[in-house]
Amino acid sequence: MNNENQTIRGIDVDLICEFFLNTQRQGPGNPEATLRALSFIDGLTDDSRIADLGCGTGGQTMTLARHAPGHVTGLDFYPGFIERFNANARGANFGDRVKGVVGSMDDLPFREGELDLIWSEGAIYNIGFERGLREWRRYLRPGGFLAVTEASWFTDERPAEIHDYWMEMYPGIDTIPGKVAQVQRAGYLPVATFVLPENCWTEHYYAPLAKARELFLRKYAGNATAEELVAFQRQEEALYDKYKAFYGYVFYIAKKMGV
Ligand code: SAH
Repeated sequence: MNNENQTIRGIDVDLICEFFLNTQRQGPGNPEATLRALSFIDGLTDDSRIADLGCGTGGQTMTLARHAPGHVTGLDFYPGFIERFNANARGANFGDRVKGVVGSMDDLPFREGELDLIWSEGAIYNIGFERGLREWRRYLRPGGFLAVTEASWFTDERPAEIHDYWMEMYPGIDTIPGKVAQVQRAGYLPVATFVLPENCWTEHYYAPLAKARELFLRKYAGNATAEELVAFQRQEEALYDKYKAFYGYVFYIAKKMGV
């Protein structure tokens, strides 16, 4: 896919991706959370097919591949991330068991019923939670699993400042019971739900981001677009710090019902 002229909130996508090439992961999460989600999934074998959609450079994919049998395909629409992903996979000696492909999560290169497990951390929001669940379902075999993280409200009420922020950024955010109902309506059995611990945001996401920003600002000193990206990240982090009692990422693990 060609990212030319694409923007996210007015900021050039290539610049955003270049920034994130300097970080090990591109969204909140940590290896313990990945493994905890994996612990709810059974029936995987050496022949299993696993897809990690919106894999980025593959931080969580490598954790997954180290602990799950079968073949793992990481998919992301940004070629720079997939190059890094494949270099990481080679470095970890996965052979041909793990590979990254460039593609879009709204047009998956898999056959119907081919997958035993669909994974996606911090990425399904790009096409929307409910839409992703419904559209990806056909690629799972009956009884196959899905494990995704998604931004969720922890309470029914929340301060206007953080509510308005999310309505602008991602109005699809909902409460945990609201998301679980969507999982069920999309044709899955909700299997488990847990909140990602705070260090998934602080230690494993915002701290590496702050380091990457130092390098980035040195390279792009005076570049208005780069400074805007940095300002946006700082605002997001400050809001998380202020309002983390009201929202966070939640892992939803589900099993495909029916055929
Ligand atoms: N799963 C990784 C990356 C999360 S960031 C992690 O947790 O660290 C979200 C990722 O989704 C980015 O790598 C972005 O390039 C990718 N993405 C966004 N829209 C996409 C789409 N339509 N198809 C495939 N990947 C997409």
